Amino acid sequence: MNTNYIEHIGIAVTDLQESIAYYEDVLGLECYAVEEVADQKVKTAFFRVGQTKIELLESTSPEGPIAKFIEKRGPGIHHIAFAVNDVNEALSCAKEKGLKLIDETSRKGAEDLDIAFLHPKSTGGVLTELCSHWEMKLNDIIFPC
Ligand code: ZN
Repeated sequence: MNTNYIEHIGIAVTDLQESIAYYEDVLGLECYAVEEVADQKVKTAFFRVGQTKIELLESTSPEGPIAKFIEKRGPGIHHIAFAVNDVNEALSCAKEKGLKLIDETSRKGAEDLDIAFLHPKSTGGVLTELCSHWEMKLNDIIFPC
């Protein structure tokens, strides 16, 4: 799998506005986008920190995965996302190595990225997201697993 950099860190929050205020007023970052991802039942807020982003996740439904995560573990780091050249190719690499996948193929996430999740049972307890930007596909280089 060709992993380029940490694309973002996903953080589960109970109150998006309150958390945005912390990242802006204390850490001095700028929230450049707030977006609702209906199929994941979340509202997201994004901040850039160099090449990496912080993605705040607030559940829009008590049945959503973020609400359930907070119920079990409290607010905090929810997942880490690695930028790869091609999500589907990375998924087949992971599958070949015997990892448990949450998504068998890529789907659209926030910011129109292709995304897919690996199961934390196979990744040392860290929910792991793979994502790619369309630009990355322009210089699609095939790396061996
Ligand atoms: Zn994410």
